[in-house]
Amino acid sequence: METADWKAKYLTAIREMEASEQRWSAVEKALRRLVSRLCAAASGIDTRLDGQLDAASAAVRRDLDPAELKAIGDSLGDTVLAMEREGPAVAGPKASPQREVAPPAPEARPPRSSRPAPAGRAELAATLTAVHGLLEHLAALDAGSGLPAALNTQLAAASDDAALARVLDQVADLVRDRSDAVASDRREVAAMLGQVTQRLEEMTEFLSGSTDESNAARSDVDTLNKEVMAEVATLSTEAASSNDLARLRTLVASRLEAVASRVREFRAHQESRFIAHAARVERMRSRIIELEKQTVELHRGLAAERRHARTDVLTGVANRASLDERLAEEIERRRRFKTAVAVLVWDIDLFKKINDEYGHRSGDAVLREVARALAARKRATDHLARFGGEEFVMLLVGTTVNEALRVADGLREAIAAMKFGFRGSPVRVTVSCGITELADDDDPQTVFDRADAALYRAKNEGRNRCIAA
Ligand code: GH3
Ligand code: MG
Ligand code: MG
Repeated sequence: METADWKAKYLTAIREMEASEQRWSAVEKALRRLVSRLCAAASGIDTRLDGQLDAASAAVRRDLDPAELKAIGDSLGDTVLAMEREGPAVAGPKASPQREVAPPAPEARPPRSSRPAPAGRAELAATLTAVHGLLEHLAALDAGSGLPAALNTQLAAASDDAALARVLDQVADLVRDRSDAVASDRREVAAMLGQVTQRLEEMTEFLSGSTDESNAARSDVDTLNKEVMAEVATLSTEAASSNDLARLRTLVASRLEAVASRVREFRAHQESRFIAHAARVERMRSRIIELEKQTVELHRGLAAERRHARTDVLTGVANRASLDERLAEEIERRRRFKTAVAVLVWDIDLFKKINDEYGHRSGDAVLREVARALAARKRATDHLARFGGEEFVMLLVGTTVNEALRVADGLREAIAAMKFGFRGSPVRVTVSCGITELADDDDPQTVFDRADAALYRAKNEGRNRCIAA
């Protein structure tokens, strides 16, 4: 926006117009004085003239109405012509006190001392002095034009009333031209103000368009606001200081108010947009936090689910599914790294009898305690699972069958030493164990079958014992 451009033009136009107003006001004042004095000078010469002179004198003291003035002037002209044709009517000094004529200016001097000055002509001389003053004033205003000076010379040289009338007629034309010039100044200023108004409307449109730009940065809005507010303040001040353009000023002032209110709306709109945006961001943030929490919970749940899917509910050790998976892995590891892996199958001795004598719940308690005892010995790399019923399987990684046999015997003895009391009587629980070591060509079934065969031997040989295949 070429803000500086149109603003400068606008201010210049305002100043020029004020100057024109002042000039016009000076011309108008001089003209009023001129008419006043002409009336005073001519008063008392002829009765036909006196009433009209009084009317003219009164008219110039009021607001000037061009039509009224023209009518008075025409009427005066007709009377003067009649006087010339018919000769003077009753002439006599008129003692009319209502004429309020300013006395001649102190510096006023008769333009021509040689001019004949009949009775009543003294006032005419003063009037001519005023016309001289007016022409000098116009000459000062129009430095380029020699017309006022020329008219002044002609006025001084006018030898009779007809010549004087011609000069005064030209003076009137000159004054009218000056008035036209002021009118054209006014038109120019009006055009300029129209332009200002248009610019302000553009600015308003621009501002209303901007409200739709969702990506307008806050700093841009602040800058815009400051600039527009500064324009508004400047234009308001200028409009207030120009003193006689009420209508145009009202127009500009209303445009300024429109822009100012548009800016206020714009700011309010932006503000609410920022607040809404911040709220949206906050909602998104808490939603993300919520999602993260849910994800963590989901992961936990999944992990728990996985654990649950591989855990025996009753004893808390791994279940059959987990054993199958792990056994397949260990078979694979054994093939690649030749790692020794001992496979132990445990079975609680005569468990059916425990259930039968002390109840199923007591049997469950025994299962849990045996599982706990077996798990206590387990190393991080080992695996313990409930295979089913009262049977458990252990995988001891990096352990040979002989080492496993020693470990198993230790566990067996520990379990046999455990004290179970059901219904007040101590109950002894023993376990048997069949042991084997993974071979290169083993699959889950063959290795299990071997261990199970060893367990079967342990049972057959009297239980509470461990036998290696
Ligand atoms: P053996 O010394 O020959 O192994 O004799 P046993 O009685 O332990 O063997 P058998 O296979 O005849 O009995 C196993 C019993 O284990 C049968 C079954 O009711 C019981 N049992 C299996 N699962 C559970 C369980 O989860 N809880 C309880 N309380 N008992 C179970
Ligand atoms: Mg069994
Ligand atoms: Mg058993």
